[in-house]
Amino acid sequence: MSNLFKAFLIKYGEIGVKGKNRYMFEDALMKQIKYSLRNVDGSFNVHKEQGRIYVEAEGDYDYDEAIDALKKVFGIVGICPMLQIDDNGFEDLSKQVVDYIDRQYADKHITFKVEARRARKNYPLNSMEINAELGHVLLEAFPELSVDVHKPDVMLYVEIRQKINIYSMEIPGPGGMPVGTNGRGMLLLSGGIDSPVSGYMVAKRGVTIDACYFNSPPYTSERAKQKVLDLAKIVSQYAGPIKLHVVNFTDIQLYIYEKCPHDELTIIMKRVMIKVAEGLCEKTGAVGLITGESIGQVSSQTMQSLAVINEAATLPIFRPVVAFDKQEIIDLAEKIGTYETSIQPYEDCCTIFVAKHPVTKPNINVIKGSETKIADRIDELIRTAIDTAEVIEIEG
Ligand code: ATP
Ligand code: MG
Repeated sequence: MSNLFKAFLIKYGEIGVKGKNRYMFEDALMKQIKYSLRNVDGSFNVHKEQGRIYVEAEGDYDYDEAIDALKKVFGIVGICPMLQIDDNGFEDLSKQVVDYIDRQYADKHITFKVEARRARKNYPLNSMEINAELGHVLLEAFPELSVDVHKPDVMLYVEIRQKINIYSMEIPGPGGMPVGTNGRGMLLLSGGIDSPVSGYMVAKRGVTIDACYFNSPPYTSERAKQKVLDLAKIVSQYAGPIKLHVVNFTDIQLYIYEKCPHDELTIIMKRVMIKVAEGLCEKTGAVGLITGESIGQVSSQTMQSLAVINEAATLPIFRPVVAFDKQEIIDLAEKIGTYETSIQPYEDCCTIFVAKHPVTKPNINVIKGSETKIADRIDELIRTAIDTAEVIEIEG
């Protein structure tokens, strides 16, 4: 049945699609569509015609894979699989339309409406005539059908172009905006549940994502790093290629561990992470940081802690899951496919250097006082961490 469809009409949202932005939006969308389809069995032609985007399969292809790939492209609101036929006269069109309805709708006790669009004005019938004629033909072929022009169960679109497109189904896309239309952000990607979801959410708004992971060998294992690579790969199925910066954080952690009060370790480490991440932003052109922090989830995510972490930053920190319950984040993680990987039990750097009773209401002046104890070498260590970060190109 799916082999019926050789092409897809891509419907996209109207937000941000006005004026000049429209071209930028459409070009970014086509680029992401091509990226997403590149691993699908088959070959596809993605093109724009009269303000609409079409994906056409060139020869055989895997329908389910193609739909899955398109469902991961932000900016797509709906995917309409189309029957695409040559124009061999109206009689042939009628036959094909009857055939289409017969195959697509086993139960014919439905209402319908034909909506023709004549993009090619030399077609012998105009849209109104096509609507009326095809409506008539269908009612004759299937007496159980009835017409409803206001709220039909099935809206049958017939587009007369070079070829003729017939479609009536719309598979929902993810919505959002195409990646590449809204600047660049740096995701602090740990191996947990929250940060991959946060990266997904911000990419959904059209933001290109880079990522950084703070690695603390030998206190953290190679497996923990691999887990982050795996997560980045899943996120990049939606977000496009991701440059993952693996920062060697061991020296910094040991230094803080040696010099600062242990109940403040987590908060001070977070502040240093922010500074390193900002240094990486200078390299990539990112204009904001993204984290998976959520109010109240752990001691370092109280309002007071988040305020103290923020104080270390000059760039904005975006926290898309800040007000989500854990279960809501888990639901999203399951939906996007990161959950199973996130729950693999490998230590990340923060679980090793945590105190038994970390401060939950840090005071910025007290924290700054403690940070004077690392003032000697911390700038140099931060610089080294930025300069020696390993950059890994991830593609989903
Ligand atoms: P997650 O589920 O995303 O790991 P979490 O609930 O475990 O978050 P924390 O460990 O406090 O919370 O981390 C808060 C945020 O800080 C993470 O969401 C992530 O953005 C960032 N972060 C923490 N550890 C690292 C790390 N090792 N590398 C990169 N970012 C990190
Ligand atoms: Mg974590």
